[in-house]
Amino acid sequence: MGGRSVLLAVPGSGFSLSPPLLEVFFGYGGLAHDTGPDHPESSARLSVLLPVFTSWVEGGRARFLDSPADPDLSLYRAAHESSHIDFLEQLSPSEPPVNLDGDTRVGHATVGALKEIAGVVRNVSKTPPNSPRKVFCAVRPPGHHAHYFGGMGFCAVNHLALLCVERARISPEERILVLDFDVHHGNGTIDIIRRLLPSERTLFISTHRYPFYPGTGSGRDNVEGERGEGILDIPLPSGTDDEDYRIVLEEMILPRWDRFGPDSVLVSAGFDGHVADPLGDMALTELTYRRIGEALRGRENGLTAGFLEGGYSLPALSASVDAFLSGWNRG
Ligand SMILES: [Zn+2]
Repeated sequence: MGGRSVLLAVPGSGFSLSPPLLEVFFGYGGLAHDTGPDHPESSARLSVLLPVFTSWVEGGRARFLDSPADPDLSLYRAAHESSHIDFLEQLSPSEPPVNLDGDTRVGHATVGALKEIAGVVRNVSKTPPNSPRKVFCAVRPPGHHAHYFGGMGFCAVNHLALLCVERARISPEERILVLDFDVHHGNGTIDIIRRLLPSERTLFISTHRYPFYPGTGSGRDNVEGERGEGILDIPLPSGTDDEDYRIVLEEMILPRWDRFGPDSVLVSAGFDGHVADPLGDMALTELTYRRIGEALRGRENGLTAGFLEGGYSLPALSASVDAFLSGWNRG
């Protein structure tokens, strides 16, 4: 199965299936993940999203998704070298947090957050093939810089890559699109995809500022297979605005997406390309995030799942997530 599909009516039956209700996961455990004073990746980033989710649920436009009662960090061994997960598992509540790199701190509370996320990834990965389902997860720490051997750039482990690996294991025939629109290149995600996923059934598309942290994503690694699989890195200059992004979306992203015809679409949803973001130096607004959501809405064949990545202006983050969900769900 593949290609663009907005038709949910059953032909000849006189019966219409409703699109699935959006499920939202709010990672309460992430509120305790302590990055230290004055760190842009703070727990307030999650706090500002709770009213957004609550509004969606109370308005009947979404329902909350819970983490299972017995979450297990070891699931992440499917996407990372075991020694990295061993290291995280031995973090003790009596010891202070430790730094994975200059700006990535993890402690015992971080592990609690990650266990909770692992439980949700396991739940979502078990979605039956070709069964429409829409999930958005507000979590921290973010994940897309975490590579096979460890964490970096605010990220301890890679949630989206874990979902890719689990999905490919459970539904090996599925064609999986990863779309990463964070302002930073998803270097960790593509590292894990290249190691662990079948190249003939995977497409990774990333838009990001370049040159910029983490220094990858120039477009040098781009490759396009017979049915559109491969890698499409789209480096963007600082100052990229909504109109620039619209052209990229319509002329580069969507043609490749439609040619590939994914069964599942997994999204690294970073909102640090917003004009108000203190880190990104781009000029996008909520309009772009709404447009990306609209692109998802018209192209759902099975599982569509998004994970929060960056976004460091609190007002811009909450407005952008709301706009993205609205585009995706006719909000
Ligand atoms: Zn980012």
